[in-house]
Amino acid sequence: MNSPLFNPNNQVTDLSNKIVAGLERISEAFKVLLWEKAKALGLSPIQIQLLIFIAYHKMAFCTVTHLAKEFNVTKPTISDAVRVLINKGFIEKIFPTSDSRSYTIQLTDEGKQMVSETENFALPIKTQLNNTEASDLNSLFKTISNLIFQLNKNGILTVQRTCYACKFHQKIQDSDYCNLLEKELLNSEIRIDCPEFEGK
Ligand code: SF4
Repeated sequence: MNSPLFNPNNQVTDLSNKIVAGLERISEAFKVLLWEKAKALGLSPIQIQLLIFIAYHKMAFCTVTHLAKEFNVTKPTISDAVRVLINKGFIEKIFPTSDSRSYTIQLTDEGKQMVSETENFALPIKTQLNNTEASDLNSLFKTISNLIFQLNKNGILTVQRTCYACKFHQKIQDSDYCNLLEKELLNSEIRIDCPEFEGK
């Protein structure tokens, strides 16, 4: 049986335990930064996340069903957030046909303005990374991109759009290649949210 990883005694000699505990601390930092922004602007964290996601993803992803999967919450939770954001004037529903009940969501001009005020909530984390050696960043990114892919394969992360799971990705010896862009992908060029991603 694995040793309890949040027991500090088990972290002394086990680097993976320490990394997991560290990632948990970093996830708290994201929560804190998001809450600070949310409180200042009178929105909830999930409402901010939705606005930022809708700003940068294709319409096909901006549905209640996909957003619930993307953020690992229930459809009613997304529907509630959507209702509030519509009432605040930040988003609107787009119906593909006049008799359609399903809809996609797009930002209004006020919504775009709100995105510009919220989208850099994680800047303090990036600022710290800017002080890190390029070689360390490269290896950190390699670990993170692989971890996301593995967690998706295990069914823990429901949605991801990394090269490793993309139908255009090909392993050629030890190199990664994109058959859509027709180029080799260096480690730093592996994408974790690629607009052209298509699942294998
Ligand atoms: S299409 Fe995008 S996700 Fe797919 S392999 Fe190419 S760069 Fe990676």
